[in-house]
Amino acid sequence: MTSVPHFPVIIVGGGQAGLSVSHNLKKQGVEHLVLEKNRIGHSWRNDRWDSFCLVTPNWQCRLPDYPYQGSDPTGYMVKDEIVSYLEGFAEMVKPPIREGVAVTRLSRGAHGGFDLETSDGPMTADQVVVATGGYDIPIVPPYAHALSRDIVQMHSVDYRNPDQLPPGAVLVVGSGQSGVQIMEDLYIAGRQVHLCVGPAPRSPRRYRGKDATEWLMEMGYYKLTVDKHPLGDRAKEKTNHYMSGRAGGHEIDLRRFALQGVKLHGSMAGMDGSTVRFADDLAKNLDDADEVYVSIRRDIDAYIAKAGIDAPEEPPFVPVWAPDGTPDAIDCAAEGISAIVWAIGFRPNYGWIELPAFDGRGNPKFRRGVSPVDGLYFIGLPWLNTWGSGRFLGVAEDSAYLAEVMRARIDARQPVAA
Ligand SMILES: Cc1cc2nc3c(=O)[nH]c(=O)nc-3n(C[C@H](O)[C@H](O)[C@H](O)COP(=O)(O)OP(=O)(O)OC[C@H]3O[C@@H](n4cnc5c(N)ncnc54)[C@H](O)[C@@H]3O)c2cc1C
Repeated sequence: MTSVPHFPVIIVGGGQAGLSVSHNLKKQGVEHLVLEKNRIGHSWRNDRWDSFCLVTPNWQCRLPDYPYQGSDPTGYMVKDEIVSYLEGFAEMVKPPIREGVAVTRLSRGAHGGFDLETSDGPMTADQVVVATGGYDIPIVPPYAHALSRDIVQMHSVDYRNPDQLPPGAVLVVGSGQSGVQIMEDLYIAGRQVHLCVGPAPRSPRRYRGKDATEWLMEMGYYKLTVDKHPLGDRAKEKTNHYMSGRAGGHEIDLRRFALQGVKLHGSMAGMDGSTVRFADDLAKNLDDADEVYVSIRRDIDAYIAKAGIDAPEEPPFVPVWAPDGTPDAIDCAAEGISAIVWAIGFRPNYGWIELPAFDGRGNPKFRRGVSPVDGLYFIGLPWLNTWGSGRFLGVAEDSAYLAEVMRARIDARQPVAA
């Protein structure tokens, strides 16, 4: 009988979060294995469009002991540069990794640890870190099936460039970071674009002489932990602010795009045949996004005034366009719409984890990534601890913390010397 391979720690997922945990476990001298079902850098390489670039500035890329060291710290890396950055990190870490191995089941083992079923056979572990990312399953509403098959539909995860879509107008659904950037990509290519504007907030890009993120960093915003956040755990559900890192970075005011010919609609409400219907919330969604935008500017103004900083003044925000009787439905054929890009997000896939680590809605429960199941951890999720936790900014701190917790658990279980 062949014995089942056992590891003190197994990390599921070899993205930036899994590799960061590996790096910190190595520093702690903890033996472990990383299982990655694709290959290192998969999501950045395979799940983003061709013109993708970071929304966060390069100086926020702070993988553990491997901060961004390129020549453009205030710029925004494009897709290939992000992949190279991650590959460089992997080269430094030299993780004990098996690529092309998927974990298909995780359950409590008879020995008190964990049993894993993988595409490479069964394994066991004393501790397991789930580093599979938060963007597994692309969300498309069930009513999408009711749309005429003449219209191509795809999720943002499959969008690459405008030439991939048939000629004609394109409807982008969703105005989060992906939606507005894909809208801009299509607009620059000369496509007629329709955009369903949802409730996502927006942020200034440069304000009073600096990138808004630099001000927010100075103001301590990125140090705020979820347990001190005014929204508490509900902070995890907040949609990211939209702005762009494209061509040196700029803010995105959808009202300006409307003036330039992009057709804005309310949230998608349903579809049937060639007809798509919209909620009556365009004016509210634009106003709400602007309110957040203005409140960020106000906070920065207050900080500058209090600290007595000499920073250039900016003119007040003035809306340049407002919707006036937009239709609650359009006929795609009449509008020449040949394709729809869904950019309404993702949900994680935890169907393979058979452990009581989830709330009633299937969200993982944890405090700083430590789950209520002894020896099980999560990492790489928004607001795991801070805003930066689901991003390049916060994963170093989160992974160092988890490595310490795992090291301490191992030490506590060592037999005491006589
Ligand atoms: C459109 C978009 C834009 C973003 N923009 C920014 C930005 O500007 N700045 C920023 O800092 N962050 C940004 N992020 C967020 C974040 O940095 C990325 O999502 C990042 O990839 C998260 O790293 P991760 O390691 O947690 O997850 P991932 O990179 O998704 O890695 C998880 C890995 O786990 C593997 N895996 C999954 N399931 C299994 C399994 N069962 N068995 C084995 N392996 C498995 C996957 O193949 C994958 O390689 C963006 C995210 C998206 C989606």
